[in-house]
Amino acid sequence: MTDNKILVIEDLTVNFDGFKALNNLNFSMNTGELRVIIGPNGAGKTTFLDVITGKVQPTEGRVLFKGKNLRNIPEYKIARFGIGRKFQTPRIYLNLTVRENLDLVCNRNKNVLETLFKKTSENEARNVAGLLATIGLETKGNLQASFLSHGEKQRLEIGMLVAQSPDLLLVDEPVAGLTDEETENVGNLLLALAESHSIIVIEHDMEFVRQIARQVTVLHQGSVLCEGNMDQIQNDPKVIEVYLGQETSVTPQQLKMLKIAAAIAWSDGYLAPEEEQIILDNFSKRFANNEEQKEQLKEDLKGYLSLTYSWEELVTELENDSEKEFMLQLAYQIIKVNQEENKAYPKLVKLLNLPEEIVKNIET
Ligand code: ADP
Ligand code: MG
Repeated sequence: MTDNKILVIEDLTVNFDGFKALNNLNFSMNTGELRVIIGPNGAGKTTFLDVITGKVQPTEGRVLFKGKNLRNIPEYKIARFGIGRKFQTPRIYLNLTVRENLDLVCNRNKNVLETLFKKTSENEARNVAGLLATIGLETKGNLQASFLSHGEKQRLEIGMLVAQSPDLLLVDEPVAGLTDEETENVGNLLLALAESHSIIVIEHDMEFVRQIARQVTVLHQGSVLCEGNMDQIQNDPKVIEVYLGQETSVTPQQLKMLKIAAAIAWSDGYLAPEEEQIILDNFSKRFANNEEQKEQLKEDLKGYLSLTYSWEELVTELENDSEKEFMLQLAYQIIKVNQEENKAYPKLVKLLNLPEEIVKNIET
């Protein structure tokens, strides 16, 4: 049944002069769902949003929003049907205050001047106060928007989008260029909004995706490559291949070992920069012969560290004691800088099953 589906996309193809930016794509999501869409550059993510908002027309296939075919409906009408889009760069009035920006959208009939000079009704005032709280800018209502940090501007724009009460929110790369703290704030805001909205988020930042993701769709070459929760996605060989399968200097055995290291370093849910450094240094020291190779290997390995992997099985596939000792040494260095990884370490020691002497040696 499509009753509960807010969005259904059937056999969608978008052909730009012979190039298929979207290729026979099928997709659907339920009302109330928060869906994250990821995919390498050029996968078709932005085009996907462009078709939903009516900016680009399908060459073939159709987009159904609440059961209604959006073909040939102009962009502004689609927006009125209840699809709101947040672009990558904030589109707010920098010379108005935060509150004035929200006032503008809370009462669509007013223009900019009226917002500045007319008193707002009590109802609207309450609305705006609620929005300010939602986006965490209660104390900044009277601040001119140009003085907000980049992250606060993003949150303000999300607030302005919400003020239009869309049924479906489309959010394109909301945390590009944000600090870690701001990224987390935006993540929490989207999670809060997801309680009462249907939301599609497009994002590159894997750590952010991990923070907010429930159901993830991976796009590749204009089609859906796979769908699932974060665990399923990260362990799907197809995903690993399209994300990381470019030609690299990394051998399969090195990759196996790197996945174990990544899993240990991620076991507290966060990969600290020091941990990444330890891993890359150890691998380049062991596997590269000169400075140039070292740099290349670090570069190639880095991409793999943004994913976490199921690792227990991999430990049993290590080929000899030298590899096992290397893993243990590495893991020990990680727990020395970060006690939080302690959960995984004892498990690793047990799985490696090295002679007690060697373990003691490493730990002193
Ligand atoms: P993503 O957002 O996943 O990086 P896009 O949807 O922007 O991908 O682009 C998908 C592919 O379609 C890219 O190869 C891009 O160059 C191409 N493309 C996008 N828009 C156009 C256009 N208007 N004309 C021609 N090619 C386009
Ligand atoms: Mg894009």
